[in-house]
Amino acid sequence: MWGLARAHGGRVVLRVEDHDRVRSRPEYEAALIEDLEWLGLEPDLGRPDALRAGPSPFRQSDRSAAYEAALRDLAGRGLVYPCACTRRRIAERTGPVPPGEELRYPGTCREGGVDPAATPARRVRLERLEVRFTDLRLGRLSQVPADQCGDLLARDRDGHWTYQLAVVVDDLGSGPGLHGGDVPRIDVVIRGEDLLDSTGRQIQLARLLGRPEPPAFLHHPLLLRPDGSKLSKSNRDTGVRDLRAAGWSPERVLGEAAYRSALLDRPREIRAEEVPNLFP
Ligand SMILES: [Zn+2]
Repeated sequence: MWGLARAHGGRVVLRVEDHDRVRSRPEYEAALIEDLEWLGLEPDLGRPDALRAGPSPFRQSDRSAAYEAALRDLAGRGLVYPCACTRRRIAERTGPVPPGEELRYPGTCREGGVDPAATPARRVRLERLEVRFTDLRLGRLSQVPADQCGDLLARDRDGHWTYQLAVVVDDLGSGPGLHGGDVPRIDVVIRGEDLLDSTGRQIQLARLLGRPEPPAFLHHPLLLRPDGSKLSKSNRDTGVRDLRAAGWSPERVLGEAAYRSALLDRPREIRAEEVPNLFP
């Protein structure tokens, strides 16, 4: 991601996605920054020294005002309503979810009747639209968010901003008619294909917030464990720290990652400055 952006003259933004206040811990951010610094992958924005210094527009837990403004904007156009449903209540209403599909919000609170003071949870109305977009790897795709997930949860029952709202507002950047502080508009989003289902709804939400043309998306395959399951922090798989402790050099870690991403034919040691050269 870093290499691709550098190869094409883009700027790399390090964004700390700690909108989930329950699961996020300050030590995760510190560890992430330290790993990137050790590898020599310096971002252009959201730089380590600035993040360490205090509140930052590149840390989601510091961006509540921007999310609040976006929600107010949508509410002003009648697109937001309070939702009193628990996940369990939604599941009881919709019945069992077929494998490979997600729980779709059936619109229980859509027509009103929930006291806004009773819950901080808010949903955004999604009109039933087909959203078409082009993925740089997978080609032309089409999704109907209203059928996939129903009206989007923007803030949950605990008052936390959701991933969907936070990333869409952050990707908008600041600018005429947009929300947020001094953050650049994101033009290219490179991420794992486990997030592909979110793309249509994020584009639809971005349009409601004033961005008619979506960013370019590239969804890459995930690195899997030998049994096919996803790498995860809870499985203690995140690699860099453990490899470093095992005596690997940054160059060896980067070379291995490039090889596993099919950027190299065989693993060899490479320096951070060489990574952009691996991209056409
Ligand atoms: Zn509801």
